Amino acid sequence: DPVYLNGQFLPLAEARVSPLDRGFLYGDGVYEVIPVYSRRPFRMAEHLARLQATLAGIHLGNPLPLAEWQKIVERLVEQAPWDDQSIYLQVTRGADDKRDHAFPPASVPATVFAFASPLVTPSPAVRAAGVAAITVTDQRWARCDLKVISLLANVLARQQAVELGCAEALLIRDSYVKEGAASNVFVVKDGLLLAPPKTQLMLPGITYDVILELAAQHQQPLEVREIAEAELRTADEVWMTSSTKEVLAITTLDGKPVGNGKPGPLGVRMWQWYQDFKNTVMRK
Ligand code: PLP
Repeated sequence: DPVYLNGQFLPLAEARVSPLDRGFLYGDGVYEVIPVYSRRPFRMAEHLARLQATLAGIHLGNPLPLAEWQKIVERLVEQAPWDDQSIYLQVTRGADDKRDHAFPPASVPATVFAFASPLVTPSPAVRAAGVAAITVTDQRWARCDLKVISLLANVLARQQAVELGCAEALLIRDSYVKEGAASNVFVVKDGLLLAPPKTQLMLPGITYDVILELAAQHQQPLEVREIAEAELRTADEVWMTSSTKEVLAITTLDGKPVGNGKPGPLGVRMWQWYQDFKNTVMRK
């Protein structure tokens, strides 16, 4: 299946990027992941808007107009063999002929890369059991709202989780849980849904927004506010959400059961609302 690189669709094995690319040298770039269901991109406009916001946040002009991004996504989706896909988009500040921290001249073009892979959402068995997670200190920088490719702190956190047999690491900063290494976090206590606020210390998840919309639509009591680590540890339910995990219950935290150790009723309902919502927009 072809990938997209700098204006061309070509086989992955033929895609070449300079070793002086600033993505490679500095992690100087941004990315997006767009889920595709039955060959239809879900919330593409929102993902492309977040891409634009992240580009603006790192002072990199968007190399392509919106319509061109849409065309690239559509063509990748068309050419891939899977109905459900995950479309990865990346833009870096390109390759200068020398290494210098400061931006290269404006004449250096951005590197644009995109490819499709199969979207594998959690299986019914995984959803029925929920997953285990650990908590770790959030060691990321202070602009976690930007979806940048410099992901080392996220990588180390997720690896620590995996080495302990867990699916996710929840990131604690100043005794508040902000999100997961690659997901947002929600907490349920006594029927109340809690969501951390969008600040510069959390990625504004596209799935997160859908969850907030669904909560409002279904009159689910919701508070958007900082969640203390102590509240996380005494929660009835904890969920992780993302474009690829959708809504997934965390049923074990740092080796202890969350609530009764089983996926809770609100998480199960939210997952169903999410499926119904997806199916409704996809049918339009
Ligand atoms: N937080 C982080 C750090 C992420 O990497 C992601 C992406 O998967 C999310 C949250 C969830 O964002 P989205 O719902 O847009 O996939």
